[in-house]
Amino acid sequence: MQRKADTQTLSRLRQDLRRLVVELEGSLEAVFGRSPLVKGTVYEMARKCGKPSCACARGELHRSMVLSWSHKGKTRLMSIPPERLVELRGKSEEYQRLRGARAEVAAIGKKMLAVIDQIERIRREEP
Ligand SMILES: [Zn+2]
Repeated sequence: MQRKADTQTLSRLRQDLRRLVVELEGSLEAVFGRSPLVKGTVYEMARKCGKPSCACARGELHRSMVLSWSHKGKTRLMSIPPERLVELRGKSEEYQRLRGARAEVAAIGKKMLAVIDQIERIRREEP
């Protein structure tokens, strides 16, 4: 037989769980998309080429857009041709959204399991 306090706690836990389900659905929005993704981050790289006579040695660095991603623990770089910049930026942003959603889903899942464990502790009785 459950005590009144347990009944109230159970009711709160069920509400918590329902809230988490709603949160989970929100986080999954980014996962339900169909557009292609490209792993990595797009950014501008400024560097020196090393030739002493080059303008970059006087501070006018070579600037180019690159896509950077990690592969088997190593950072890979690809220089982006101007005609692919918009496309790759969009696809890498979509990738970031998916990864962000994945992290949220993992965190929400963890919270859900904690709530389920609490519910079990309250509902469980000896045979
Ligand atoms: Zn140079």
